[in-house]
Amino acid sequence: MRQVVMHGPGNVQVEQRQDPKIIEPTDAIIRLSATCICGSDLWPYRGAEPVDHQVMGHEYVGVVEQIGDDVHTVEVGDFVVGSFWASDNTCEICRAGYQAYCVHRVLMGTIGTQAERARVPLADGTLVATPGMPDPSLIPSLMAASDVLGTGWFAAVAAEAGPGKTVAVVGDGAVGLLGVLAAKQLGAERIIAVSRHADRQALAREFGATDIVEERGDAGVARVKDLTDGLGAHSVIEAVGTQEAMMQAIRSTRPGGHVGFVGVSHDVAIPGDELFMAGVHLHGGPAPVRRFLPELVQLIWDRKIDPGKVFDLTLPLDRAAEGYRAMDERTAVKVLLTV
Ligand SMILES: [Zn+2]
Repeated sequence: MRQVVMHGPGNVQVEQRQDPKIIEPTDAIIRLSATCICGSDLWPYRGAEPVDHQVMGHEYVGVVEQIGDDVHTVEVGDFVVGSFWASDNTCEICRAGYQAYCVHRVLMGTIGTQAERARVPLADGTLVATPGMPDPSLIPSLMAASDVLGTGWFAAVAAEAGPGKTVAVVGDGAVGLLGVLAAKQLGAERIIAVSRHADRQALAREFGATDIVEERGDAGVARVKDLTDGLGAHSVIEAVGTQEAMMQAIRSTRPGGHVGFVGVSHDVAIPGDELFMAGVHLHGGPAPVRRFLPELVQLIWDRKIDPGKVFDLTLPLDRAAEGYRAMDERTAVKVLLTV
């Protein structure tokens, strides 16, 4: 099969590799219908994380081709969506809704889903089957559910977005934009998107943003305060992972408010005295996407949400390198790879 391998920073190649096999009886093999490139794949691409001949990709939708002897909830031929952590969905941590920390978790990025086929461990716990074979027009949205929608949704839940709340979203990548969509679905009254790109602002508005702030850092904080009677937002989503974005998120939150942070943290250090004085709740980290998948798949199936709009470039798997380049140069928000 063909699979994307990052040889080193900036060097992405599509190679011929061995087809995956069932290793554990709880495994399934899926044939991918689509895969995509994640904002987090850019960290090694840019040399900000070590990378050496690494298989890439952790988002996936596709059709089950083979199941191990101990797989019971999905069948060969099912169309399935899974998250970037394979999880048993039965341990105490999973049952509490934190499948990203499952005691048996396996990181799908170590298997690599930018490929024609993938082995999915813990298939019963990890995979959610759609009600039937999806119309091709639904595939981008189902693909989004695998990570960026689930992550944006978790951020909105962690930030306690809901009726009567003003939600600010720091970050206008796919996760931030889908954090806007999630906040809207959760009933937020007002949603402030932080973005300086016209096309991303337009999508944010389409997803439910009521206000746009273009400023970053402390100027962005001041704008959010201006819009909230000097108090700050009730709920703030941080979807970048840098020091500036994290501090912007904390400082944009009113005392007693909640920050949901899901940008993969890189060299973020929160000053203890400022955290102490802020009086805000912080919750985030790798999103337990699996918790939300059944609900998200149904919303997509019923065409109540269209998160697939975050994909603004579609390329065949063979042109993955071009997709990485487009996301690195920010000419694309998110790239869908057809398999
Ligand atoms: Zn578990």
